[in-house]
Amino acid sequence: MVFSIRWLAILAACGLAACGDKPKPTEPQAAFTPVAVSPDLWKEFSGEKALAHVRTQVEFGPRPSGSSALEKARQHILSTLAASGWETERQEFKETPVPGRGETAFTNLIARFPKPAAQRVIIGSHYDTKVMNGVRFLGANDGGSSTGALLELARVLATAPAFAAQFELVFFDGEEAVVSFGSAELGPDGLVGSRHYAKSIRDRAQQYKFALVWDMIGDKDLTVTLPSDSPKNLAGALFTAADQLGLRRNFGYYGQQILDDHVPLATLARIPAMDIIDFDYPAWHTSGDTLDKLSVESLEIVGRVTLKMLISELGAK
Ligand SMILES: [Zn+2]
Repeated sequence: MVFSIRWLAILAACGLAACGDKPKPTEPQAAFTPVAVSPDLWKEFSGEKALAHVRTQVEFGPRPSGSSALEKARQHILSTLAASGWETERQEFKETPVPGRGETAFTNLIARFPKPAAQRVIIGSHYDTKVMNGVRFLGANDGGSSTGALLELARVLATAPAFAAQFELVFFDGEEAVVSFGSAELGPDGLVGSRHYAKSIRDRAQQYKFALVWDMIGDKDLTVTLPSDSPKNLAGALFTAADQLGLRRNFGYYGQQILDDHVPLATLARIPAMDIIDFDYPAWHTSGDTLDKLSVESLEIVGRVTLKMLISELGAK
């Protein structure tokens, strides 16, 4: 996860899209068709199973973009998705995030269920971990937690095929910046995968109803801090779902913008996008971001509340 006041100033001044190439005028929304889905499907989301996927990734070691450890994580993600019937695509590209430091190969992983709906919802997570000089940074929470949860979500959705077809699951590479964000200009460092993906769908953005990004959702002390740019209807739907499960205390606002993978989706592809993140995490970007800071319960709370929200928003009434 990334955060920078300076980036925000640039964003405020011109916006990502206005600084780069402009998106084509938005086409009419593709029709969205709700499908029947069990209102209790959210109960199937297992924090234990999500944590097992986090553990697998952490055991690969630090997983920066371009590393062999990240390729191992990719193989785990792809084989897990295939096992429950998801069709996957490797979106491969090369970029030079820091001028003068050479090109890096990046790979986003995109999963769709067979017979995908005409209009879908994107659920995203970054799966790379930050390069930190002199620190063996494992990214159990930052990179690991949301990716483990997304694999568990994929398993649950696959039990309801028509509902699963309403989603596009995206595992972003290159979310983390190579250099400190305090000194970085807006791009090309950081959010590399989500910028590339957003550009790849911008001409057919009407195929996407909205996007949710998960990041850092496993902290034992769970306080989801929605950024101030969260679309009100999506934030409201999430809070309502949390309320219905008696978990409203775990969800609130951060009070500021947070620069994360939802930003390119919102600004470059013009898709309503919300970052579900717990930015109140003392071990953020330290060697202490390890498995012992995470809990089954926190992963289960975010997984179940998000799924409850999605059933309410997308299921047939
Ligand atoms: Zn991070």
